[in-house]
Amino acid sequence: MDSCPVTESRCCQFCPQIGVDLDLVARTLFGVSYSAEPIGEVREVIIARSRETEVRERAQYGGTASTLIRVALQSGVISTAVLAKLVEGVPQGVTVSSAKEVLDCRGSSYLVCPVLEAFHRWQPEDNDRVGIVGTPCQTLAVAHMRTCSLSAQSNISRANLVIGLFCTWALSHSFRKVLAKWAPLSAIRKTDIPPPPASVLRAYTADRCLSIPLDDVKPFIPPACALCWDMTAEMTDVSVGAAEGLEGWNTVIIRTKKGQELVRTSVSEGLLETEELPKANLDHLMESARLKKRRALQNRVRKSGKRGDLLYLKVKHDTVERILRNA
Ligand SMILES: Cc1cc2nc3c(=O)[nH]c(=O)nc-3n(C[C@H](O)[C@H](O)[C@H](O)COP(=O)(O)OP(=O)(O)OC[C@H]3O[C@@H](n4cnc5c(N)ncnc54)[C@H](O)[C@@H]3O)c2cc1C
Repeated sequence: MDSCPVTESRCCQFCPQIGVDLDLVARTLFGVSYSAEPIGEVREVIIARSRETEVRERAQYGGTASTLIRVALQSGVISTAVLAKLVEGVPQGVTVSSAKEVLDCRGSSYLVCPVLEAFHRWQPEDNDRVGIVGTPCQTLAVAHMRTCSLSAQSNISRANLVIGLFCTWALSHSFRKVLAKWAPLSAIRKTDIPPPPASVLRAYTADRCLSIPLDDVKPFIPPACALCWDMTAEMTDVSVGAAEGLEGWNTVIIRTKKGQELVRTSVSEGLLETEELPKANLDHLMESARLKKRRALQNRVRKSGKRGDLLYLKVKHDTVERILRNA
């Protein structure tokens, strides 16, 4: 650790780990205290997929994230979106302002992407409003920024929409050397982790699907992911993930009124199709999210050596006990 003389700094204030008061963040976003329920605050959980062929053909699953951002841009909810774009196979944070540019950002890279760097570098003009798509840690940082005393020194007042991506873990950039052994990085369009028992990471090029054993992948998971307890990007307007067993569809958690209106507009404009989430899928999602919380707590307790010390995570003692006990 370096010794820093600054007593109040954006690096500490905006960090999604240090000093996040989940109760305050949840009250700011949803008007209620933090519940610590497995998938967070929920208005509706559904499945959805884009009706736009140009979105679907290269999307990760159903293209719901891309279509929601496109509708938000076209309807004026936002004028800019902060997304991840593969440049020579490496994901970079970019700001885009047209629905067409959103198409260049379809698909997931499992490499950690500095999305919020693009958000901070963005220089808004008078009435600009931004939408951000990011992983749970990134979207928690955005939500946290709204509650910080130094928030005026950021673009946070311009954030008008946050779409979260489900995430179990990401990969550090040293994984690029493993990927490069399988295919030129610039040829890889998206990566995916299919559900068990596959036990592989799949990397897709234009004409091939490569399967890399998870044992070769896991050493590249950043240690911070083992401490993350949020699988479904809880502090967002809408969260989007895979719909297990329903190829080409997304599971969608609608959390805020704004998120609900955006989904409704997308459906009424004929750009998004929705259906009920099968109960078995919801049960499985709840279980996966609960297990991620439990693993994170166990790893935190193991690291600190004390059940009462969760390394910056502030959660009520009885909640911790409930999650640890209720295996
Ligand atoms: C690191 C990572 C881990 C994930 N783990 C899971 C998981 O365990 N379970 C699950 O159900 N879903 C997971 N997802 C989410 C899933 O891959 C899809 O992103 C999500 O379901 C949206 O699908 P879509 O078809 O709507 O996406 P699309 O419409 O194709 O849009 C994809 C969006 O993802 C953004 N994006 C791509 N790569 C990154 C990145 N590295 N960092 C931040 N944003 C990015 C793009 O900007 C784009 O907006 C993960 C995503 C990432 C990036």
